[in-house]
Amino acid sequence: MDANNDPDCTGIITWMHTFSPSKMWIRGLSLLQKPYLHINTQYNKSIPWDEIDMDYMNLHQSAHGDREHGFIGARMNIPRKVIVGHWSDETVIKKIGSWMRSAIGAYESKRLKVLRLSDNMRNVAVTEGDKVEAEIKLGWSVNHWAIGDLVARMNEVTDAQIEEQMDRYVKDYEIATKNIDAIRYQAKIEVALRSMLEEGNFGAFTTNFEDLYGMEQLPGLAVQNLMKNGYGFGAEGDWKTAAMTRIIKLMSQGKSEGTTFMEDYTYSFEPGNEMIMGAHMLEVCPSVADDKPRIEVRPLSIGGKSDPARLIFNGTKGSAIVVTLIDLGGRFRMIVNDIECVVPKHDMPNLPVARVLWKPLPDLSTSAEAWILAGGAHHSVLTYAVTADEMRDFAEILGIEFIHINANTNINKLKNELRWNDIAWRLKDL
Ligand code: MN
Repeated sequence: MDANNDPDCTGIITWMHTFSPSKMWIRGLSLLQKPYLHINTQYNKSIPWDEIDMDYMNLHQSAHGDREHGFIGARMNIPRKVIVGHWSDETVIKKIGSWMRSAIGAYESKRLKVLRLSDNMRNVAVTEGDKVEAEIKLGWSVNHWAIGDLVARMNEVTDAQIEEQMDRYVKDYEIATKNIDAIRYQAKIEVALRSMLEEGNFGAFTTNFEDLYGMEQLPGLAVQNLMKNGYGFGAEGDWKTAAMTRIIKLMSQGKSEGTTFMEDYTYSFEPGNEMIMGAHMLEVCPSVADDKPRIEVRPLSIGGKSDPARLIFNGTKGSAIVVTLIDLGGRFRMIVNDIECVVPKHDMPNLPVARVLWKPLPDLSTSAEAWILAGGAHHSVLTYAVTADEMRDFAEILGIEFIHINANTNINKLKNELRWNDIAWRLKDL
Protein backbone atom coordinates (compact mmCIF):
# COMPACT_ATOMS: atom_id res chain seq x y z
CA MET A 1 0.00 0.00 0.00
CA ASP A 2 2.95 2.32 0.67
CA ALA A 3 4.34 1.54 -2.78
CA ASN A 4 0.97 2.29 -4.38
CA ASN A 5 0.72 5.67 -2.70
CA ASP A 6 4.32 6.80 -2.99
CA PRO A 7 4.59 9.33 -5.85
CA ASP A 8 8.33 8.68 -6.04
CA CYS A 9 7.87 4.94 -6.50
CA THR A 10 7.45 3.73 -10.09
CA GLY A 11 7.67 0.02 -9.29
CA ILE A 12 8.78 -2.62 -6.82
CA ILE A 13 11.54 -5.23 -6.92
CA THR A 14 11.35 -8.42 -4.88
CA TRP A 15 13.78 -11.28 -4.28
CA MET A 16 13.86 -14.11 -1.79
CA HIS A 17 17.40 -14.60 -0.55
CA THR A 18 15.88 -17.02 1.95
CA PHE A 19 12.75 -19.10 1.83
CA SER A 20 9.54 -17.08 2.14
CA PRO A 21 6.32 -19.09 2.24
CA SER A 22 4.19 -17.32 -0.31
CA LYS A 23 0.68 -17.62 1.10
CA MET A 24 1.67 -14.69 3.32
CA TRP A 25 2.26 -12.57 0.17
CA ILE A 26 -1.27 -12.99 -1.17
CA ARG A 27 -2.87 -10.04 0.60
CA GLY A 28 -0.03 -7.67 -0.25
CA LEU A 29 0.30 -8.72 -3.87
CA SER A 30 -3.45 -8.54 -4.40
CA LEU A 31 -3.28 -4.82 -3.52
CA LEU A 32 -0.23 -4.02 -5.61
CA GLN A 33 -0.86 -1.52 -8.40
CA LYS A 34 2.75 -0.70 -9.28
CA PRO A 35 4.91 -2.57 -11.82
CA TYR A 36 6.55 -5.60 -10.30
CA LEU A 37 9.99 -7.06 -10.97
CA HIS A 38 11.03 -10.36 -9.48
CA ILE A 39 14.80 -10.69 -9.46
CA ASN A 40 16.28 -14.13 -8.85
CA THR A 41 19.78 -13.62 -7.48
CA GLN A 42 21.95 -14.47 -4.48
CA TYR A 43 24.75 -12.76 -2.60
CA ASN A 44 27.63 -15.08 -3.47
CA LYS A 45 28.52 -15.70 -7.05
CA SER A 46 30.47 -18.95 -6.53
CA ILE A 47 29.91 -21.86 -4.19
CA PRO A 48 32.63 -21.87 -1.46
CA TRP A 49 33.44 -25.53 -1.98
CA ASP A 50 35.76 -25.97 1.02
CA GLU A 51 33.58 -24.17 3.57
CA ILE A 52 30.03 -24.78 2.44
CA ASP A 53 27.73 -25.99 5.25
CA MET A 54 24.01 -25.79 6.06
CA ASP A 55 24.28 -22.21 7.41
CA TYR A 56 25.61 -21.13 4.04
CA MET A 57 22.88 -23.09 2.28
CA ASN A 58 20.17 -21.40 4.33
CA LEU A 59 21.45 -17.91 3.51
CA HIS A 60 21.86 -18.60 -0.19
CA GLN A 61 18.68 -20.35 -1.08
CA SER A 62 17.02 -18.08 -3.65
CA ALA A 63 17.34 -21.03 -6.04
CA HIS A 64 14.31 -22.47 -4.29
CA GLY A 65 13.00 -19.45 -2.34
CA ASP A 66 12.43 -17.59 -5.61
CA ARG A 67 10.63 -20.59 -7.07
CA GLU A 68 8.11 -20.45 -4.23
CA HIS A 69 7.80 -16.71 -4.82
CA GLY A 70 7.45 -17.27 -8.58
CA PHE A 71 4.62 -19.70 -7.99
CA ILE A 72 2.46 -17.15 -6.20
CA GLY A 73 2.96 -14.67 -9.04
CA ALA A 74 1.86 -17.35 -11.52
CA ARG A 75 -0.99 -18.54 -9.31
CA MET A 76 -2.34 -15.00 -8.92
CA ASN A 77 -1.63 -14.24 -12.58
CA ILE A 78 0.15 -11.00 -11.78
CA PRO A 79 1.96 -9.37 -14.71
CA ARG A 80 5.62 -9.32 -13.75
CA LYS A 81 9.13 -9.33 -15.09
CA VAL A 82 11.59 -12.01 -13.97
CA ILE A 83 15.34 -11.40 -14.21
CA VAL A 84 17.84 -14.11 -13.27
CA GLY A 85 21.58 -13.77 -12.60
CA HIS A 86 24.19 -12.53 -10.18
CA TRP A 87 23.41 -9.00 -8.99
CA SER A 88 26.87 -7.72 -9.96
CA ASP A 89 26.59 -9.01 -13.52
CA GLU A 90 26.52 -6.23 -16.17
CA THR A 91 23.75 -7.94 -18.14
CA VAL A 92 21.57 -8.27 -15.04
CA ILE A 93 22.12 -4.63 -14.12
CA LYS A 94 21.28 -3.60 -17.69
CA LYS A 95 18.10 -5.66 -17.66
CA ILE A 96 17.01 -4.08 -14.37
CA GLY A 97 17.76 -0.65 -15.83
CA SER A 98 15.67 -1.46 -18.90
CA TRP A 99 12.77 -2.65 -16.80
CA MET A 100 12.97 0.56 -14.75
CA ARG A 101 12.57 2.52 -18.00
CA SER A 102 9.44 0.49 -18.80
CA ALA A 103 8.11 1.17 -15.30
CA ILE A 104 8.74 4.90 -15.80
CA GLY A 105 6.76 4.66 -19.05
CA ALA A 106 3.85 3.06 -17.22
CA TYR A 107 4.07 5.71 -14.51
CA GLU A 108 3.93 8.53 -17.06
CA SER A 109 1.12 6.75 -18.89
CA LYS A 110 -1.04 6.65 -15.76
CA ARG A 111 -0.79 10.41 -15.23
CA LEU A 112 -0.62 11.64 -18.82
CA LYS A 113 -2.85 14.41 -20.12
CA VAL A 114 -3.10 15.02 -23.86
CA LEU A 115 -4.15 18.42 -25.24
CA ARG A 116 -6.12 17.65 -28.35
CA LEU A 117 -6.48 20.69 -30.59
CA SER A 118 -9.41 19.93 -32.87
CA ASP A 119 -10.46 16.44 -33.99
CA ASN A 120 -8.85 13.67 -36.02
CA MET A 121 -8.22 14.29 -39.70
CA ARG A 122 -11.41 13.64 -41.59
CA ASN A 123 -12.13 10.04 -42.61
CA VAL A 124 -8.85 8.61 -41.29
CA ALA A 125 -9.44 5.33 -39.46
CA VAL A 126 -6.21 4.32 -37.76
CA THR A 127 -5.76 7.56 -35.81
CA GLU A 128 -9.19 7.06 -34.26
CA GLY A 129 -9.75 5.16 -31.05
CA ASP A 130 -11.69 4.82 -27.85
CA LYS A 131 -10.51 7.56 -25.52
CA VAL A 132 -12.50 6.23 -22.60
CA GLU A 133 -10.90 2.81 -23.01
CA ALA A 134 -7.49 4.51 -23.31
CA GLU A 135 -8.07 6.23 -19.98
CA ILE A 136 -9.22 3.01 -18.29
CA LYS A 137 -6.46 0.85 -19.75
CA LEU A 138 -3.54 3.25 -20.15
CA GLY A 139 -4.45 6.14 -17.86
CA TRP A 140 -4.45 8.80 -20.59
CA SER A 141 -6.74 11.75 -20.20
CA VAL A 142 -7.37 12.94 -23.77
CA ASN A 143 -9.53 16.00 -24.13
CA HIS A 144 -10.39 18.52 -26.79
CA TRP A 145 -9.63 22.24 -26.95
CA ALA A 146 -10.63 24.52 -29.80
CA ILE A 147 -8.04 26.02 -32.10
CA GLY A 148 -9.60 29.34 -31.08
CA ASP A 149 -8.26 28.79 -27.56
CA LEU A 150 -4.77 28.74 -29.03
CA VAL A 151 -5.42 31.71 -31.30
CA ALA A 152 -6.71 33.74 -28.33
CA ARG A 153 -3.52 32.99 -26.47
CA MET A 154 -1.38 33.83 -29.49
CA ASN A 155 -2.97 37.28 -29.50
CA GLU A 156 -1.64 37.82 -25.98
CA VAL A 157 1.96 36.93 -26.84
CA THR A 158 4.26 39.95 -26.49
CA ASP A 159 7.12 41.02 -28.76
CA ALA A 160 9.53 40.41 -25.89
CA GLN A 161 8.34 36.79 -25.60
CA ILE A 162 8.77 36.33 -29.34
CA GLU A 163 12.31 37.78 -29.18
CA GLU A 164 13.21 35.42 -26.36
CA GLN A 165 11.96 32.46 -28.39
CA MET A 166 13.80 33.71 -31.50
CA ASP A 167 17.06 33.83 -29.49
CA ARG A 168 16.62 30.13 -28.70
CA TYR A 169 16.00 29.29 -32.36
CA VAL A 170 19.11 31.24 -33.42
CA LYS A 171 21.19 29.43 -30.82
CA ASP A 172 20.06 25.92 -31.76
CA TYR A 173 19.40 26.13 -35.48
CA GLU A 174 20.74 27.60 -38.69
CA ILE A 175 18.49 30.31 -40.09
CA ALA A 176 18.33 29.53 -43.81
CA THR A 177 15.67 31.98 -44.93
CA LYS A 178 15.18 35.72 -45.31
CA ASN A 179 11.56 35.40 -44.25
CA ILE A 180 12.12 36.14 -40.56
CA ASP A 181 8.48 37.11 -40.07
CA ALA A 182 7.44 33.54 -40.80
CA ILE A 183 9.81 32.29 -38.08
CA ARG A 184 8.50 34.91 -35.67
CA TYR A 185 5.01 33.60 -36.32
CA GLN A 186 6.10 30.10 -35.30
CA ALA A 187 7.74 31.61 -32.20
CA LYS A 188 4.40 33.16 -31.34
CA ILE A 189 2.63 29.80 -31.77
CA GLU A 190 5.22 28.10 -29.58
CA VAL A 191 4.98 30.62 -26.74
CA ALA A 192 1.16 30.37 -26.73
CA LEU A 193 1.07 26.60 -27.04
CA ARG A 194 3.69 26.12 -24.33
CA SER A 195 1.69 28.25 -21.93
CA MET A 196 -1.40 26.12 -22.59
CA LEU A 197 0.60 22.92 -22.06
CA GLU A 198 2.20 24.16 -18.86
CA GLU A 199 -0.99 25.60 -17.42
CA GLY A 200 -2.97 22.41 -18.04
CA ASN A 201 -0.09 20.12 -17.08
CA PHE A 202 -0.22 18.39 -20.47
CA GLY A 203 2.54 16.06 -21.61
CA ALA A 204 1.44 15.78 -25.24
CA PHE A 205 -0.67 17.52 -27.86
CA THR A 206 -2.13 17.14 -31.32
CA THR A 207 -2.86 19.55 -34.15
CA ASN A 208 -4.87 19.23 -37.35
CA PHE A 209 -4.12 21.05 -40.62
CA GLU A 210 -7.84 20.97 -41.46
CA ASP A 211 -8.61 23.20 -38.52
CA LEU A 212 -6.44 26.29 -38.48
CA TYR A 213 -9.15 28.93 -38.19
CA GLY A 214 -7.58 32.25 -37.27
CA MET A 215 -4.04 30.99 -37.84
CA GLU A 216 -1.73 32.02 -40.65
CA GLN A 217 0.53 28.93 -40.68
CA LEU A 218 0.34 25.30 -39.74
CA PRO A 219 2.43 24.85 -36.58
CA GLY A 220 5.75 23.47 -37.85
CA LEU A 221 8.93 24.76 -36.23
CA ALA A 222 6.90 25.40 -33.06
CA VAL A 223 5.84 21.76 -32.84
CA GLN A 224 9.32 20.49 -33.69
CA ASN A 225 10.93 22.57 -30.96
CA LEU A 226 8.30 21.60 -28.37
CA MET A 227 8.94 17.94 -29.19
CA LYS A 228 12.65 18.53 -28.67
CA ASN A 229 11.78 19.91 -25.24
CA GLY A 230 10.08 16.64 -24.32
CA TYR A 231 6.47 17.09 -25.35
CA GLY A 232 4.69 14.30 -27.19
CA PHE A 233 3.09 15.17 -30.51
CA GLY A 234 0.73 13.59 -33.02
CA ALA A 235 -0.35 15.22 -36.27
CA GLU A 236 -3.87 15.14 -37.72
CA GLY A 237 -5.36 14.66 -34.28
CA ASP A 238 -3.44 11.44 -33.66
CA TRP A 239 -3.62 11.41 -29.86
CA LYS A 240 -2.36 7.81 -29.54
CA THR A 241 0.95 8.60 -31.23
CA ALA A 242 1.17 11.91 -29.35
CA ALA A 243 0.85 10.07 -26.03
CA MET A 244 3.32 7.36 -27.02
CA THR A 245 5.88 9.96 -28.16
CA ARG A 246 5.71 11.58 -24.74
CA ILE A 247 5.93 8.29 -22.87
CA ILE A 248 8.90 7.05 -24.89
CA LYS A 249 10.69 10.36 -24.46
CA LEU A 250 10.39 9.97 -20.69
CA MET A 251 11.45 6.33 -20.87
CA SER A 252 14.66 7.48 -22.56
CA GLN A 253 15.50 10.02 -19.89
CA GLY A 254 19.26 10.53 -19.51
CA LYS A 255 20.04 9.13 -22.94
CA SER A 256 21.31 11.33 -25.74
CA GLU A 257 19.60 9.43 -28.57
CA GLY A 258 16.46 10.99 -29.97
CA THR A 259 12.77 10.13 -30.23
CA THR A 260 10.28 11.60 -32.69
CA PHE A 261 6.81 11.46 -34.13
CA MET A 262 7.20 9.74 -37.52
CA GLU A 263 5.30 8.70 -40.61
CA ASP A 264 6.16 6.06 -43.20
CA TYR A 265 6.22 8.20 -46.31
CA THR A 266 7.85 6.66 -49.33
CA TYR A 267 9.76 3.50 -50.37
CA SER A 268 12.98 2.74 -52.15
CA PHE A 269 12.41 -0.60 -53.89
CA GLU A 270 15.86 -0.45 -55.46
CA PRO A 271 17.09 -4.08 -55.34
CA GLY A 272 19.59 -4.64 -52.52
CA ASN A 273 18.93 -1.18 -51.14
CA GLU A 274 15.30 -1.40 -50.03
CA MET A 275 14.38 1.33 -47.57
CA ILE A 276 11.62 3.41 -46.09
CA MET A 277 11.84 7.16 -46.02
CA GLY A 278 9.97 8.57 -43.09
CA ALA A 279 9.01 12.22 -42.83
CA HIS A 280 5.96 14.36 -42.24
CA MET A 281 4.41 17.49 -43.62
CA LEU A 282 6.61 19.35 -41.12
CA GLU A 283 6.69 17.80 -37.70
CA VAL A 284 9.77 15.65 -37.14
CA CYS A 285 11.66 16.15 -33.87
CA PRO A 286 15.20 17.58 -34.22
CA SER A 287 16.39 15.25 -31.43
CA VAL A 288 17.02 12.69 -34.21
CA ALA A 289 18.98 15.09 -36.46
CA ASP A 290 22.34 14.08 -37.85
CA ASP A 291 23.30 17.60 -38.88
CA LYS A 292 22.45 21.06 -37.57
CA PRO A 293 18.78 21.62 -38.48
CA ARG A 294 18.10 24.50 -40.86
CA ILE A 295 15.06 26.71 -40.51
CA GLU A 296 13.52 27.21 -43.92
CA VAL A 297 10.27 28.71 -45.12
CA ARG A 298 8.74 26.75 -47.98
CA PRO A 299 5.26 26.40 -49.41
CA LEU A 300 3.02 23.69 -48.02
CA SER A 301 0.71 22.14 -50.57
CA ILE A 302 -1.82 21.14 -47.94
CA GLY A 303 -3.88 23.15 -45.48
CA GLY A 304 -4.21 26.27 -47.63
CA LYS A 305 -2.26 28.62 -45.35
CA SER A 306 0.91 30.75 -45.60
CA ASP A 307 4.31 29.15 -46.07
CA PRO A 308 5.28 27.76 -42.68
CA ALA A 309 8.75 27.87 -41.13
CA ARG A 310 10.07 24.40 -40.41
CA LEU A 311 13.27 22.59 -39.48
CA ILE A 312 14.90 20.54 -42.22
CA PHE A 313 17.52 17.88 -41.45
CA ASN A 314 18.52 14.28 -42.05
CA GLY A 315 17.98 11.63 -39.40
CA THR A 316 21.08 10.14 -37.84
CA LYS A 317 22.30 6.60 -38.45
CA GLY A 318 21.94 3.78 -35.96
CA SER A 319 19.68 1.05 -34.63
CA ALA A 320 16.21 2.20 -33.73
CA ILE A 321 12.61 1.02 -33.45
CA VAL A 322 9.29 2.32 -34.72
CA VAL A 323 6.31 1.93 -32.41
CA THR A 324 2.65 2.17 -33.29
CA LEU A 325 -0.47 1.71 -31.18
CA ILE A 326 -3.82 0.80 -32.71
CA ASP A 327 -7.30 0.33 -31.33
CA LEU A 328 -8.83 -2.94 -32.55
CA GLY A 329 -12.22 -2.26 -31.03
CA GLY A 330 -11.88 -4.73 -28.18
CA ARG A 331 -8.27 -3.99 -27.31
CA PHE A 332 -5.13 -1.97 -27.99
CA ARG A 333 -2.30 -3.55 -29.96
CA MET A 334 1.23 -2.20 -29.93
CA ILE A 335 3.41 -3.07 -32.91
CA VAL A 336 7.16 -2.53 -32.87
CA ASN A 337 9.59 -2.97 -35.75
CA ASP A 338 13.38 -3.06 -35.39
CA ILE A 339 15.00 -0.79 -37.94
CA GLU A 340 18.46 0.31 -39.01
CA CYS A 341 18.62 3.99 -39.85
CA VAL A 342 21.03 5.21 -42.50
CA VAL A 343 22.20 8.66 -43.53
CA PRO A 344 20.91 9.56 -47.00
CA LYS A 345 23.56 9.71 -49.69
CA HIS A 346 21.60 12.26 -51.71
CA ASP A 347 20.90 15.92 -50.97
CA MET A 348 17.22 16.00 -51.96
CA PRO A 349 17.25 19.81 -52.46
CA ASN A 350 13.57 19.90 -53.40
CA LEU A 351 12.35 17.99 -50.36
CA PRO A 352 11.31 20.71 -47.90
CA VAL A 353 10.96 18.55 -44.78
CA ALA A 354 13.08 16.65 -42.26
CA ARG A 355 13.49 13.00 -43.16
CA VAL A 356 14.82 9.74 -41.75
CA LEU A 357 15.82 6.79 -43.93
CA TRP A 358 15.78 3.26 -42.58
CA LYS A 359 16.04 -0.38 -43.48
CA PRO A 360 13.37 -2.28 -41.56
CA LEU A 361 14.15 -5.77 -40.25
CA PRO A 362 14.12 -8.47 -41.44
CA ASP A 363 13.77 -6.75 -44.84
CA LEU A 364 11.45 -4.19 -46.36
CA SER A 365 8.93 -6.56 -47.95
CA THR A 366 8.58 -8.87 -44.91
CA SER A 367 8.47 -5.95 -42.50
CA ALA A 368 5.85 -4.05 -44.47
CA GLU A 369 3.78 -7.20 -45.01
CA ALA A 370 3.89 -7.98 -41.29
CA TRP A 371 3.11 -4.38 -40.31
CA ILE A 372 0.16 -4.23 -42.71
CA LEU A 373 -1.19 -7.63 -41.60
CA ALA A 374 -0.98 -6.53 -37.97
CA GLY A 375 -2.81 -3.29 -38.80
CA GLY A 376 0.04 -0.91 -37.91
CA ALA A 377 -0.54 2.79 -38.59
CA HIS A 378 1.31 5.08 -40.98
CA HIS A 379 2.08 7.18 -37.91
CA SER A 380 4.56 5.89 -35.36
CA VAL A 381 7.11 6.90 -32.78
CA LEU A 382 10.68 6.44 -33.97
CA THR A 383 13.23 6.11 -31.19
CA TYR A 384 16.96 5.37 -31.09
CA ALA A 385 16.89 5.39 -27.29
CA VAL A 386 14.34 2.79 -26.21
CA THR A 387 14.44 -0.90 -27.16
CA ALA A 388 11.74 -3.29 -28.34
CA ASP A 389 12.16 -5.28 -25.12
CA GLU A 390 11.49 -2.16 -23.08
CA MET A 391 8.32 -1.57 -25.08
CA ARG A 392 7.30 -5.20 -24.58
CA ASP A 393 7.66 -4.81 -20.81
CA PHE A 394 5.71 -1.55 -20.97
CA ALA A 395 2.90 -3.33 -22.86
CA GLU A 396 2.91 -6.20 -20.35
CA ILE A 397 2.73 -3.86 -17.37
CA LEU A 398 -0.30 -2.11 -18.87
CA GLY A 399 -1.89 -5.29 -20.17
CA ILE A 400 -2.00 -4.58 -23.90
CA GLU A 401 -1.13 -6.78 -26.86
CA PHE A 402 2.42 -6.59 -28.22
CA ILE A 403 3.69 -7.62 -31.65
CA HIS A 404 7.40 -7.44 -32.48
CA ILE A 405 8.60 -7.46 -36.09
CA ASN A 406 12.32 -8.22 -36.10
CA ALA A 407 15.19 -10.11 -37.74
CA ASN A 408 13.45 -13.44 -37.04
CA THR A 409 9.99 -12.53 -38.28
CA ASN A 410 8.34 -15.19 -40.41
CA ILE A 411 5.05 -14.21 -42.02
CA ASN A 412 3.29 -17.54 -41.52
CA LYS A 413 4.24 -17.64 -37.85
CA LEU A 414 3.15 -14.05 -37.45
CA LYS A 415 -0.23 -14.80 -39.02
CA ASN A 416 -0.72 -17.56 -36.48
CA GLU A 417 0.38 -15.29 -33.64
CA LEU A 418 -2.20 -12.70 -34.71
CA ARG A 419 -4.88 -15.40 -35.04
CA TRP A 420 -4.13 -16.91 -31.63
CA ASN A 421 -3.77 -13.53 -29.96
CA ASP A 422 -7.21 -12.64 -31.23
CA ILE A 423 -8.70 -15.58 -29.35
CA ALA A 424 -6.58 -15.06 -26.24
CA TRP A 425 -7.53 -11.40 -25.95
CA ARG A 426 -11.21 -12.11 -26.53
CA LEU A 427 -11.12 -14.70 -23.74
CA LYS A 428 -9.35 -12.20 -21.52
CA ASP A 429 -12.26 -9.77 -21.94
CA LEU A 430 -14.85 -12.35 -20.84
MN1 MN B 1 0.33 12.18 -40.99
